Amino acid sequence: MMRIVQITAEFSPIAKAGGLGEMVLGLSRELTAVGQTVEIFLPKYDFLDLSKIQKLKMDVPDFKIPIHEHLYANAMWSAECEDCQLHLLETRHPAGYLQRNKIYGYEDDVPRFLYFSLAMLEYLKLQNKPIDVLHLHDWHFALVAILARDHFKLPISTIVLTIHSAEYQGRCATWDFDAIGFKGADYLFKNKLQDDDPAYPETLNLLKGAIIYADAITTVSPSYAQEILTKQTEFHLGTTLRKNKKKLTPILNGIDQKFWDPSKDFYITAHYDAESSLKTIKQAKQASKNLLAAQFSLKGNLPWVGAITRLVPQKGPKLIEEALKETIRLGGTFILLGSSPMTEIQEHFEQLKIEYADHPQVLLYLDYNESLAHQIYAALDFLIVPSLFEPCGLTQLIAMRYGTVPIVRSTGGLKDTVFDCNDFRVPIQQRNGFVFSEASSDSLKSVFQKAFAIFHKEKPLFDSLIRHDMNVNSSWKTPAKEYLRLYTTARDSFQLKTSKIKLPMPF
Ligand code: ADP
Repeated sequence: MMRIVQITAEFSPIAKAGGLGEMVLGLSRELTAVGQTVEIFLPKYDFLDLSKIQKLKMDVPDFKIPIHEHLYANAMWSAECEDCQLHLLETRHPAGYLQRNKIYGYEDDVPRFLYFSLAMLEYLKLQNKPIDVLHLHDWHFALVAILARDHFKLPISTIVLTIHSAEYQGRCATWDFDAIGFKGADYLFKNKLQDDDPAYPETLNLLKGAIIYADAITTVSPSYAQEILTKQTEFHLGTTLRKNKKKLTPILNGIDQKFWDPSKDFYITAHYDAESSLKTIKQAKQASKNLLAAQFSLKGNLPWVGAITRLVPQKGPKLIEEALKETIRLGGTFILLGSSPMTEIQEHFEQLKIEYADHPQVLLYLDYNESLAHQIYAALDFLIVPSLFEPCGLTQLIAMRYGTVPIVRSTGGLKDTVFDCNDFRVPIQQRNGFVFSEASSDSLKSVFQKAFAIFHKEKPLFDSLIRHDMNVNSSWKTPAKEYLRLYTTARDSFQLKTSKIKLPMPF
């Protein structure tokens, strides 16, 4: 049995911005179920819904961080959530790092997470308890990987980094390090952490640092691992990643089967599962459609197509708009549940919302809404995911479990999980959706025309896609086993290394 410590900016459902939070939940719950000790450390953001947490108690009421001449106070809480052991880091920094209404998207995100990281390092030092695996995610707690061994001498056997997206890297300046007390130590960082992008010669890069300092690195699908090693979507991390290629293992994400379960889902009205008859599945989907139609004055023309997504360039917002127009043109109903951290994109969709306000075939719900997401997955016939790049993508996996057929662009994890109904290279049972290659309006239109034609005129084929989708096994069981194997190998090689160091001289 191992002590596995996850330090994360997100944990679903209480602090979720996207796939990262769901991955930490799904993986931790599965590892806990097979007897591992998993402790999850998360900032105690003000917006946390404490009603979803049990046994909340303060463990360490006050531990201080010295920065320059000041001592900053912090506390550590423990709690249980979704069968997982949580630790919540409360910081009392005067900049109010926890007093926000979302996880990221603030100008001071880098100083916030540098400070959270420093507080975590101080706490782990205070605890001084051996850690078999320290698992970090993306750039947010990269500083922990960078400082854990050399500076803080923490008893950690192995450090694992998961790259959920290479796009966000935590770029910062030496003064960000000064601000957390590392004045004068920039020589230490600069050599290794200097950004690889020639456009930012004076910039330091936290994700790059974590890649260098981690013992093992994972990313969330095999195709994305290939893409970030080549020029495709490496965002100037390719050189560093290629140098560290031996450490990189792709492990395809799963989805949490308890959280996404059409047979028990708290938010939906009619339940069904992979064993249900097609008649039952379709009736249940119709019941979900009826509820949404009544709530949002939709006419209900079939098929229903939708997208549930952050509206950022990665997700192909232009193609999502194109999908809306093509759906109406072909006579279906379109639902978008999504919001954007980028003002320009949000305003553009707000404008579209006004244009389509009275349209009986369109619903644009431009906010984050967990319960509505569940209802929409259950109601849709097709889910469109036209991403320009996609590390893994969870929405297509969730859609499949709810018997909703995905239409995706062939990239990253989408390429590894969705196989076109006409792809003769793939066994028939694996064909589960519609795939297009070019990120262009023409490609999208032609795949929509094919999907609509099959929906209306080739019912047995469409029904077989629903069946294949609902039979896809995307539980966390297999990926959790792969993580355990990776953890064990990394820990054992660390133990071997340290035992070699301790060997007496041969004379
Ligand atoms: P990413 O992590 O890049 O945002 P993923 O596909 O990995 O994309 O994960 C997205 C997760 O966020 C899914 O669980 C999806 O249902 C959820 N989600 C995205 N947008 C919304 C929204 N507006 N409301 C509710 N859930 C959303």
